[in-house]
Amino acid sequence: MILEDSTRRLLGWFEVNRRDLPWRREPRDPYHVWISEVMLQQTQVRTVIGYFNRWIGRFPDIPTLAAASLDTVLKAWEGLGYYSRARNLHRAAGIVVGEHGGRLPRRAVELQKLPGIGPYTAAAIASLAFGEDVIAVDGNIRRVVSRLFAIKNELTRKDAECLLDPFYAPGEAGRVNEALMELGALCCTPGTPPCGKCPLRPVCEAYLQGNPGDFPVTKKKKSPPHVSRRGVLLLKENSLYLTRRPEGGMLGGLWGIPLVEGEVPGVPPVEAVLEDVSHAYTHFRITVTPCVVSDGGARSYAVEGGQFIPLEEIPQLALSVLDHKILERLKDYREGRKRRGRDSLDRNSGRE
Ligand code: SF4
Repeated sequence: MILEDSTRRLLGWFEVNRRDLPWRREPRDPYHVWISEVMLQQTQVRTVIGYFNRWIGRFPDIPTLAAASLDTVLKAWEGLGYYSRARNLHRAAGIVVGEHGGRLPRRAVELQKLPGIGPYTAAAIASLAFGEDVIAVDGNIRRVVSRLFAIKNELTRKDAECLLDPFYAPGEAGRVNEALMELGALCCTPGTPPCGKCPLRPVCEAYLQGNPGDFPVTKKKKSPPHVSRRGVLLLKENSLYLTRRPEGGMLGGLWGIPLVEGEVPGVPPVEAVLEDVSHAYTHFRITVTPCVVSDGGARSYAVEGGQFIPLEEIPQLALSVLDHKILERLKDYREGRKRRGRDSLDRNSGRE
């Protein structure tokens, strides 16, 4: 009875506090739920809203996504990171069209067979879009559960599902899942949560103990390694040499500037060394020293899978955030060089 009351309070709180997000519009579109859930992995809601709206404008349904080229899909994803998510969406859309008549399977167990859909995403789509009674445990819900039960070790997904089960009445999994996700996003936040506003306060062990900030308990993570590379900005007339990252690897399918370890080989000589660029990925940090090489004998740097691309065509390609940062340095350098060239012409012609 106490838990039933808690669920009612939670759902009441959700009705009042739920955010009006584009993928929550009724009636729920399973495709919208799928895209939003994939985008929300590792990315904040406020960033996802713009990407989501542009994506749906560009690929309004699964057949359109399946028919698009991978380049177009990666370009639409550009800046969201974790590009395997975009590649998997594209592959999965092809499978849904080829094997399921263009409609997403309705059950979590079937959804999980599609590329890029794990237990959480499958449960979220199945419960929110199709009403299946499955519990979806994401990072937010895991934090809420570890506090509700004051769990002193790292909480597994299975344990969280068992602990949550009594909160779920048949037919309500979608609403309860979404209410718990929203509670974790808006109220039971990391650090010290505002428990005074929480509908689950009467049954929350961490609140009763006075130490919600001690949960969730996580293993200490080692700080990620740091690598340094030289970025070879190889220019030939108005083109830049770019390579395509191999599919299946990190940033697979994206174009990028060749990176080398140690010094850039000596022939042709490096024309300029630009200011370092740094970027943090989940598992490592990287600092790149961009080196400009603009000599006709540039072939000695050629990396397999690369080609010279006219500078004005580069904005149409999908590149990583790191590569965009490096290209910004190159742009500043080329503009500075043009300015310096104009100044020296002015001086030679006696103009001030
Ligand atoms: S009472 Fe506080 S710690 Fe407990 S679930 Fe609510 S916000 Fe989280």
